[in-house]
Amino acid sequence: MRYSHLFGKTSKNAPSDADSPNARLLEQGGFVEHVMAGVYSWLPLGLSVLRKAEQIIREEMNALGGQEIFMPSLQPKEYWDKTGRWDSVDILFKIKSQTDKMYALGCSHEEVVTPLAQKFTRSYKELPLMLYQINTKFRDELRAKSGVLRGREFRMKDMYSFHTSQADLDAYYARVKEGYVKAFARCGLDVKVVEASGGIFTKKISHEFQALTPSGEDTLIACGSCEFGQNVEVATQKEGDACPNCGKPLVKTKGIEVGNIFDLGKKFPEDFGFDYMDETGAHKPLVMGCYGIGTTRLVGAIVEAHHDDKGIIWPKSVAPFQVEIVPLKSKDEEKQKLVEATVSALEKDLAERGIETLVDDRDKGAGEKFADADLIGIPLRLVVSEKSLAAGGVEWKERAAAEAKSVPLEGLGAEIASWLKS
Ligand SMILES: [Zn+2]
Repeated sequence: MRYSHLFGKTSKNAPSDADSPNARLLEQGGFVEHVMAGVYSWLPLGLSVLRKAEQIIREEMNALGGQEIFMPSLQPKEYWDKTGRWDSVDILFKIKSQTDKMYALGCSHEEVVTPLAQKFTRSYKELPLMLYQINTKFRDELRAKSGVLRGREFRMKDMYSFHTSQADLDAYYARVKEGYVKAFARCGLDVKVVEASGGIFTKKISHEFQALTPSGEDTLIACGSCEFGQNVEVATQKEGDACPNCGKPLVKTKGIEVGNIFDLGKKFPEDFGFDYMDETGAHKPLVMGCYGIGTTRLVGAIVEAHHDDKGIIWPKSVAPFQVEIVPLKSKDEEKQKLVEATVSALEKDLAERGIETLVDDRDKGAGEKFADADLIGIPLRLVVSEKSLAAGGVEWKERAAAEAKSVPLEGLGAEIASWLKS
């Protein structure tokens, strides 16, 4: 991809209303564009990151036996009346059609997935059943804030599981916990699995997956040595107490909730009269779990965890491009031709290796190109110039490293491919 053709531009100035690093850097870098409070358009750079993060999550949900479906955001009020949540969920968007019929814009999909699963599931032989989707969600937030972290419209992966027994749900719940930690690690995030309240879903304790960053909106009591952590809203421990797992002192820290899992018990199957037949033909109640990951929020959390004062530092796994080639103009016509030919050959070589490359072919000076490269945060920057060619090749600069080095052109494609795998 040539930068001059890429839709979306970087901006020298931070948006005036940006209240967090992700809001500032994603907008300044041309990843997203603010439409109104809590609502964003995703531009090609941002959409590329979002799709990669969602694909990682999709792979991990498939590995957990999940089957992907796609459910409507526009949902009948009657379903929400059945579960009693039409009146109890304060952030539910409610809309009225021109015929005065009322609809919900889904903030969650228990009301749709439960009757859907019921339609096709009769017997214990068809259980457990795990269904998930990656879809747009709506929340009528009083105060949208923190860029893409707390929006009114956002994307989310939500999975729902149906089981014949509490023991079967408990075993699956534990597997999902591990699958989530793996999915977040692949996206470049270290998360703590912390106990939290069930929120609008259940009275039981749930688990949150918290990415630890200083700008996080949740306060946690966590152990620095082991996995233990609790959201302060349910904490039975306080700062300085000995960790119940390992005895080290607990500390107060900030986190961004990137995922959550809930044991929903029998509520939703009971609301819809959904049961199953066991081996003896008797009708038995089902138990249900739900598992969420906010994917647009996840992109924001990755930025919060991976940036410096110059811009974003994308993990390789979710970067919009893996390599950015920055050609610098030469005043000498022959040398300029050599720069251009080198860039074209390198671009072709990388394309053949399946490496996504952005070439900054814009008519701009070195300073501006380097500042933009730091801002958009592609993992590897290669400078091709009269000077680099005289030194025998290209200048290799990793976004996460302080120093640049000169590398020869020969074998460069293979070296990049192996660095990307490392
Ligand atoms: Zn501990």
